[in-house]
Amino acid sequence: DRPDIANPVRTRAIMNTYGIAVKKSLGQNFLSDVNILHNIVSAADITDDDDVIEVGPGIGALTEQLARSAKRVLAFEIDQNLIPVLAETLAPYKNVNIVNADILKVDLANEIAEHLPDAETVKVVANLPYYITTPILMGLVSAPIDFAAIVVMMQKEVAERLSAEPGTKAYGALTLAVQYKMQARLAFTVSRTAFIPQPNVDSAIVTLTPREPLIEKPFSDDALFRLIRGCFAHRRKSLWNNLQSIFGKAPATKVELQASLDEMELAQSIRAERLSLEGFIALTNVLHTHNL
Ligand code: SAM
Repeated sequence: DRPDIANPVRTRAIMNTYGIAVKKSLGQNFLSDVNILHNIVSAADITDDDDVIEVGPGIGALTEQLARSAKRVLAFEIDQNLIPVLAETLAPYKNVNIVNADILKVDLANEIAEHLPDAETVKVVANLPYYITTPILMGLVSAPIDFAAIVVMMQKEVAERLSAEPGTKAYGALTLAVQYKMQARLAFTVSRTAFIPQPNVDSAIVTLTPREPLIEKPFSDDALFRLIRGCFAHRRKSLWNNLQSIFGKAPATKVELQASLDEMELAQSIRAERLSLEGFIALTNVLHTHNL
């Protein structure tokens, strides 16, 4: 019986055998602490009813632990050099499927239909490549898929943004995009010593679970996200200034903008970071009634 892939001695042996030179540009930091992997799998509450999507299996440390608990694991790895390594390290697990692809380019709904037929409960579990944490999260929460959970490791600063409250520095467009679909909770932090090689930042595991249904819905998701992005485009500027950047400064437009703010009882000087998700949804709909 071989030790876990995540065992530091085995991790180094695999890297030596395959001559793996870690690619920093791909955010390659391999987890080599099996206890942390067990904690991630428990945070995601993986059972044999769950199909799991993993982003960036690396040499398979997390994939292995997922394969032992889940029904099936579908993992996307961009680095072609790691594909033969994964074929060997994960050979004992028949429920694992590795796809050599860029997670930002795949159509996840199609991939699920193709590789996970009859999937019922789909969860995402990953130790993310940090250089693309934000686009990956945005892609996951805007995909037309009802994930039962998304449990992901990321740099601590980004983790704090996901669960941030209005009015704080960490609160912004990413917070709102994620909270529109999911409820975020910072599960636990992870020391940089748990990785080979060690990253330059501290890490945290975030669990995202489906949120309570919203009472008011935006008339259009695209309009809501256009408004959110635009209102945080210049964080230091007032909501009023950002609204004019989005909708224009024509006198007729300004009249409608002012009427919308009045209806919402919002001062011109307020900043976007003061507005809750519900506030942004209400503002989207009020602006719409003013033909904006
Ligand atoms: N899961 C492994 C672990 O926990 O030890 C490795 C995690 S490492 C932080 C991130 C992994 O994501 C690397 O294997 C890297 O090659 C892969 N990766 C980077 N960019 C990617 C992309 N655009 N699509 C898919 N995988 C990517």
